[in-house]
Amino acid sequence: MFLNLVGVWPTYKKEIKSAIKIALVEFPEIEQQIKTVKIGFLSDKRFATNTFYWKKALQHIIKLNVLAFSIPCIKKKFEITRQSGISNMFSIQDIIFHEIGHIFYNNRLCKYYGLDLYNKKSNSFKLLKNINNNNTIQLQLLTEIKQQFSISEHDFIVKFGSYSLEPGELVPECISNYLRLKNKCCLTNLDFEVLKISRYVIEYCKQL
Ligand SMILES: [Zn+2]
Repeated sequence: MFLNLVGVWPTYKKEIKSAIKIALVEFPEIEQQIKTVKIGFLSDKRFATNTFYWKKALQHIIKLNVLAFSIPCIKKKFEITRQSGISNMFSIQDIIFHEIGHIFYNNRLCKYYGLDLYNKKSNSFKLLKNINNNNTIQLQLLTEIKQQFSISEHDFIVKFGSYSLEPGELVPECISNYLRLKNKCCLTNLDFEVLKISRYVIEYCKQL
């Protein structure tokens, strides 16, 4: 993995590095699939993006939005995003967890749909893109969450964000919540439920 943090606001660098470390302790198998983490221009207001391609193996590039990561007021941006209900991000760490969540999910999708991580076929890229967009597994997970957990729709949106309902975004949001909450003590009842749901989603994906 190539970590290029030139241009990132100095105090954020430590947080980015520690988030990657924490996520890789939990999901060591995905390290091979991270090519680069770097800062760059994005065409929209997202904090970060994750693009993938196949070379010899499936690779991901995590790009951090220069408009958020090169200036000292990113915390203010988290607050605005939370208030808008789009996403439940609190820190830089949560963003990194989310992006790494995409890589974990892609690895699991590849396994489930028979795409070889280390052997590029001509249509691998297109297939993985389509699988991410077709949403079948995510919709199944949302149905199961509704049936098995006592969380209202309102609380679900508050805690996972409306963004988690976009295709391919539920699992990354669960990974972000899981890694943030798993070692926290004194969780509220609702956060404990969020942790249980997130763990359930991750275990479900591991079985794919
Ligand atoms: Zn995402």
